[in-house]
Amino acid sequence: MGFKLFLMICAAFLATSGAEAQQLQALARVDVASSSIADTDDNGVEIRLSLSQPVPYRLFTLAKPARLVVDFREVDWQGFDENTVLQSQKVADLRFGIFRPGWSRLVLDLDEPLNVAQAELKVDHTKGSALLAVKLAPVTQAEYEAASGRFSSEEWALPKGDKGIKPKTRQIGDRPLVVAIDPGHGGIDSGAEREGYLEKTLVLQFSRELKEALILSGRYKAELTRTSDSFVSLPDRITIARQMGADVFLSVHADALSEGRATGTTVYTLSDKASDAAAGQLARQHDRSDLLAGVDLSQQDDLIASVLMDMARLETAVRSDLLAEMMVSGIGQSVGRIRKRPHLSAGFTVLKAPDIPSVLIELGFMSNRSDLNNLLTFEWREKVIRGVVLALDTWAFEDAAQARLLRQ
Ligand SMILES: [Zn+2]
Repeated sequence: MGFKLFLMICAAFLATSGAEAQQLQALARVDVASSSIADTDDNGVEIRLSLSQPVPYRLFTLAKPARLVVDFREVDWQGFDENTVLQSQKVADLRFGIFRPGWSRLVLDLDEPLNVAQAELKVDHTKGSALLAVKLAPVTQAEYEAASGRFSSEEWALPKGDKGIKPKTRQIGDRPLVVAIDPGHGGIDSGAEREGYLEKTLVLQFSRELKEALILSGRYKAELTRTSDSFVSLPDRITIARQMGADVFLSVHADALSEGRATGTTVYTLSDKASDAAAGQLARQHDRSDLLAGVDLSQQDDLIASVLMDMARLETAVRSDLLAEMMVSGIGQSVGRIRKRPHLSAGFTVLKAPDIPSVLIELGFMSNRSDLNNLLTFEWREKVIRGVVLALDTWAFEDAAQARLLRQ
């Protein structure tokens, strides 16, 4: 790949006395009043983040779109206000939040190619506080691209689950099915936002309720791909599902669509071509979440290709379609009403497991008032969950019957 990587881990963290170590157990806080992201006289940008204590950090840039990513050992972002801190004309936007347990991330969208020229964590030993000072300098697009790349250390690498995990044997109805429930978004990526409600929170709530219902039925094992408000990349979600030995993968969303007309529960499956423009927009929105959170998806196709067996994929696609149809009729039956074209398809990265039948359920669209109301209503969610369990029951039965036929 030949990219250069800009990395710094602060060693100050390691060399502390007992008293300081005690203090370090509290999360570092960002002091907003003395933090800033501002343009400099020499056409660069200076980032000054004032922290209540030194923390290990690293930074790197990503291309297409141009972003600067700063990761910290967990930082408490409470009170961090981008309107106060962001004064630069060269930084279009910023996001911050938990990236994965114990780590926080700050992402700046760069309007022009800027490389890290200098980065330093200055520690004030009397106050115990620290200042992260980063200077970005203008470079050409080619220089920017040459310097950008994904950080790759053991600690940060994507789980290497695709190697060494045996493909799941297709179920024939002789054991409880393992259902991977995938609550969309999380952490730095909130998903849709309407009236103060966040998609990541609503779908996590629903996923927990669904997991409980599946386990209570006694017919399923169920796990979530994320159990807290943390960021999980799309490829990681598949890996986690494979690690749990999932028979079925259900991704749960409640997105907003810009045209605002989308309403009602909709079930999506994977296809190369989007079934309609809105489905295509959703798939792009989801991949964009990973881009916004600073995940480089460019190598993912290779990763997936290496485990992709065409035959398995074809078979999985047929099983996914059947699952989607069952979901549509199961949810339709229990809720009493479902969208006109309730089964659509598009190129959702999260549905690309070659060996696990996968569907994405848009419970409703937060951009629609009555959908949002439904999502917030326990009784409505309970009905949908009954529909999903019914759908899984029916599908599992059919799918096992077909598997037995194939074996003969
Ligand atoms: Zn979503």
